[in-house]
Amino acid sequence: MRAMEVIEPGQDRKVAALRSSFHVHFFVYGGNMNTTFFNIAFEEAENAFNNNEVPIGAVIVKDGEIIAKAYNNKEKDKCSISHAEINAIVDASKKLDNWRLDDCDIYVTLDPCPMCASAIKQARIKNVYSALKNKDNNNFKLIEEIFKKDTVNPSVNLFSNLDMERSKKLLNSFFNKQRNN
Ligand SMILES: [Zn+2]
Repeated sequence: MRAMEVIEPGQDRKVAALRSSFHVHFFVYGGNMNTTFFNIAFEEAENAFNNNEVPIGAVIVKDGEIIAKAYNNKEKDKCSISHAEINAIVDASKKLDNWRLDDCDIYVTLDPCPMCASAIKQARIKNVYSALKNKDNNNFKLIEEIFKKDTVNPSVNLFSNLDMERSKKLLNSFFNKQRNN
């Protein structure tokens, strides 16, 4: 299985599916990616938008059930680490009463930053389903390194660009709104 696969903008999903056997499995058989969880991640991102925060949402799922959902609230918290993913990990850990989020997946509306990627890995989250690859290529290189298996932690699978247009539209409308204020 190739863990780090991204569909490039404009690339046909079927073509991408043929590129790796995993994608054949993932897209043709549906894999474990669930549209409903993405919808809820986007609802969270919209909550952030409505609070004048950069609109990013995250949902953590275990055994097909949502155990945490959160959005970026850095401005409200006046805290640099209050990213959607960190907020969701904190909630999920409280809920499971365990820092180990074994067998959990996270749905995010944008690729995690390196800080959140590290937290995801430390939490032992297995799969990251992301709507959009970060436009900063360096971000991708960094998180790719972080998600690799190391001597302590297992690797994390990242599947990105799964709902690009929706994420781009939301982010663009946020930054347009900021510019016009
Ligand atoms: Zn982050």
